[in-house]
Amino acid sequence: MTDLRDLYQEVIFDHNRNPRNFGKLVDATHKAEGFNPLCGDRLTVYLKVDETDGTITDVGFDGAGCAISVASASLMTQMLKGRSLEEAEALFEGFHDLIMDKPAGAEAPELGKLRVLEGVKAFPSRVKCATLSWHTMHAALEGEEEQITTE
Ligand code: ZN
Repeated sequence: MTDLRDLYQEVIFDHNRNPRNFGKLVDATHKAEGFNPLCGDRLTVYLKVDETDGTITDVGFDGAGCAISVASASLMTQMLKGRSLEEAEALFEGFHDLIMDKPAGAEAPELGKLRVLEGVKAFPSRVKCATLSWHTMHAALEGEEEQITTE
Protein backbone atom coordinates (compact mmCIF):
# COMPACT_ATOMS: atom_id res chain seq x y z
CA MET A 1 0.00 0.00 0.00
CA THR A 2 1.03 3.56 -0.55
CA ASP A 3 1.13 4.83 2.97
CA LEU A 4 2.01 8.13 4.54
CA ARG A 5 5.58 6.98 5.03
CA ASP A 6 6.14 6.76 1.27
CA LEU A 7 4.79 10.25 0.84
CA TYR A 8 7.04 11.56 3.62
CA GLN A 9 10.06 9.85 2.07
CA GLU A 10 9.26 11.45 -1.24
CA VAL A 11 9.11 14.92 0.33
CA ILE A 12 12.46 14.35 2.06
CA PHE A 13 14.09 13.14 -1.17
CA ASP A 14 12.68 16.10 -3.05
CA HIS A 15 13.97 18.65 -0.54
CA ASN A 16 17.37 16.97 -0.50
CA ARG A 17 17.67 16.90 -4.29
CA ASN A 18 16.33 20.39 -4.70
CA PRO A 19 16.79 22.30 -1.44
CA ARG A 20 14.72 25.46 -1.09
CA ASN A 21 16.34 28.76 -0.14
CA PHE A 22 19.79 27.28 -0.65
CA GLY A 23 22.58 29.82 -0.80
CA LYS A 24 24.16 32.57 1.19
CA LEU A 25 21.99 35.56 2.14
CA VAL A 26 24.21 38.55 1.50
CA ASP A 27 22.09 40.92 3.58
CA ALA A 28 21.55 38.56 6.51
CA THR A 29 21.26 40.17 9.93
CA HIS A 30 21.95 36.90 11.75
CA LYS A 31 23.95 33.84 10.86
CA ALA A 32 25.50 30.83 12.54
CA GLU A 33 27.35 27.74 11.51
CA GLY A 34 26.33 24.31 12.72
CA PHE A 35 28.28 21.08 12.71
CA ASN A 36 27.16 17.57 13.46
CA PRO A 37 30.40 15.58 13.93
CA LEU A 38 28.58 12.26 14.20
CA CYS A 39 27.46 12.48 10.61
CA GLY A 40 29.65 15.23 9.16
CA ASP A 41 26.76 17.61 8.40
CA ARG A 42 27.98 21.21 8.20
CA LEU A 43 25.42 23.93 7.53
CA THR A 44 25.34 27.71 7.80
CA VAL A 45 21.96 29.33 8.46
CA TYR A 46 21.29 32.93 7.45
CA LEU A 47 18.36 35.02 8.64
CA LYS A 48 17.21 38.47 7.80
CA VAL A 49 15.17 39.97 10.62
CA ASP A 50 13.20 43.19 10.34
CA GLU A 51 14.32 44.87 13.58
CA THR A 52 11.28 47.15 13.71
CA ASP A 53 8.67 44.43 14.04
CA GLY A 54 10.80 41.34 14.75
CA THR A 55 9.69 39.45 11.65
CA ILE A 56 11.93 37.03 9.80
CA THR A 57 11.75 38.35 6.25
CA ASP A 58 14.21 35.97 4.65
CA VAL A 59 16.00 32.72 5.49
CA GLY A 60 18.67 30.78 3.67
CA PHE A 61 21.25 28.11 4.27
CA ASP A 62 24.25 26.58 2.63
CA GLY A 63 26.77 23.87 3.33
CA ALA A 64 26.69 20.14 2.91
CA GLY A 65 25.22 17.23 4.78
CA CYS A 66 23.22 14.06 4.57
CA ALA A 67 19.74 13.92 3.05
CA ILE A 68 18.00 14.32 6.41
CA SER A 69 19.99 17.39 7.45
CA VAL A 70 19.58 19.12 4.07
CA ALA A 71 15.87 18.30 3.77
CA SER A 72 15.26 19.47 7.33
CA ALA A 73 17.08 22.77 6.71
CA SER A 74 15.15 23.28 3.48
CA LEU A 75 11.81 22.66 5.18
CA MET A 76 12.83 24.92 8.05
CA THR A 77 13.57 27.87 5.79
CA GLN A 78 10.12 27.52 4.22
CA MET A 79 8.46 27.42 7.63
CA LEU A 80 10.28 30.42 9.06
CA LYS A 81 9.78 33.03 6.35
CA GLY A 82 7.37 35.69 7.50
CA ARG A 83 7.26 34.42 11.09
CA SER A 84 7.89 36.43 14.22
CA LEU A 85 10.87 35.54 16.39
CA GLU A 86 8.44 34.16 18.99
CA GLU A 87 6.81 31.93 16.38
CA ALA A 88 10.24 30.72 15.25
CA GLU A 89 11.14 29.73 18.80
CA ALA A 90 7.78 27.98 19.25
CA LEU A 91 8.34 26.03 16.01
CA PHE A 92 11.84 25.10 17.16
CA GLU A 93 10.46 23.72 20.42
CA GLY A 94 7.53 22.01 18.73
CA PHE A 95 9.75 20.37 16.14
CA HIS A 96 12.24 19.31 18.78
CA ASP A 97 9.48 17.68 20.84
CA LEU A 98 8.16 15.89 17.74
CA ILE A 99 11.57 14.49 16.82
CA MET A 100 12.46 13.61 20.42
CA ASP A 101 9.09 11.84 20.70
CA LYS A 102 7.91 14.05 23.55
CA PRO A 103 4.24 14.90 23.90
CA ALA A 104 3.32 18.21 22.30
CA GLY A 105 2.63 21.00 24.76
CA ALA A 106 -0.71 22.75 24.92
CA GLU A 107 0.76 25.76 23.11
CA ALA A 108 2.40 23.67 20.40
CA PRO A 109 2.23 25.31 16.97
CA GLU A 110 0.96 23.68 13.80
CA LEU A 111 3.99 21.88 12.40
CA GLY A 112 2.59 21.21 8.95
CA LYS A 113 5.14 19.81 6.54
CA LEU A 114 7.75 19.42 9.28
CA ARG A 115 5.91 16.24 10.22
CA VAL A 116 7.51 14.47 7.27
CA LEU A 117 10.63 14.19 9.46
CA GLU A 118 8.78 12.57 12.35
CA GLY A 119 10.07 9.13 11.33
CA VAL A 120 13.62 9.96 12.39
CA LYS A 121 12.61 9.65 16.04
CA ALA A 122 13.05 5.90 15.59
CA PHE A 123 16.71 6.53 14.71
CA PRO A 124 18.44 8.42 17.54
CA SER A 125 21.61 9.01 15.50
CA ARG A 126 19.57 10.79 12.80
CA VAL A 127 17.81 13.05 15.29
CA LYS A 128 20.90 15.25 15.33
CA CYS A 129 20.84 15.47 11.55
CA ALA A 130 17.21 16.60 11.61
CA THR A 131 17.66 19.17 14.38
CA LEU A 132 21.05 20.62 13.30
CA SER A 133 19.61 23.45 11.21
CA TRP A 134 17.13 24.33 13.97
CA HIS A 135 19.82 24.51 16.65
CA THR A 136 21.88 26.60 14.26
CA MET A 137 18.96 28.95 13.55
CA HIS A 138 18.40 29.30 17.29
CA ALA A 139 22.07 30.13 17.85
CA ALA A 140 21.99 32.68 15.04
CA LEU A 141 19.03 34.47 16.63
CA GLU A 142 20.76 34.37 20.01
CA GLY A 143 23.74 36.06 18.42
CA GLU A 144 26.16 33.27 19.21
CA GLU A 145 29.31 33.63 17.17
CA GLU A 146 30.97 30.32 17.75
CA GLN A 147 30.29 27.25 15.70
CA ILE A 148 27.48 25.18 17.10
CA THR A 149 27.93 21.45 17.36
CA THR A 150 25.38 18.82 18.21
CA GLU A 151 27.82 17.28 20.69
ZN1 ZN B 1 23.38 13.77 8.92
